[in-house]
Amino acid sequence: MEHQRMEAFRRGVGNRCPRCGREGLFVTAYRLHRDCPDCGLPLEHEDGWALGAIPLNYSLTCLGWVLPVSIIFILGGFSLKTAAIIGGLGAVVLPFLTYRYSKKVWVGLYYAILPREMRVRAEGEKGDIHG
Ligand SMILES: [Zn+2]
Repeated sequence: MEHQRMEAFRRGVGNRCPRCGREGLFVTAYRLHRDCPDCGLPLEHEDGWALGAIPLNYSLTCLGWVLPVSIIFILGGFSLKTAAIIGGLGAVVLPFLTYRYSKKVWVGLYYAILPREMRVRAEGEKGDIHG
């Protein structure tokens, strides 16, 4: 079971289907396939499902950009104005640049946490927990 969880996560982060490993989760730059074209595993779910990617994206932006800029400011490397401009621009631009990565991590994380979802859907059962 642990191997299955790690493999699902690794595949999702690697832009591959968590179940079958098919490459290419995205239809366009920012839109996932609704289901895996090869095995049918849902990659998009009901409204709100993808919201899990937002805290990941927010964390990446804060920890990867805003925090380092703030630390440099506190240590005297930037003036307040420079830190505000650099931090603000990064906080606006970085979420767009990391959006795909956040979605991939979210897909992998979802199926790593709930590997049963892959089995239920693989068997074609209607008993998924989301109705
Ligand atoms: Zn697949």
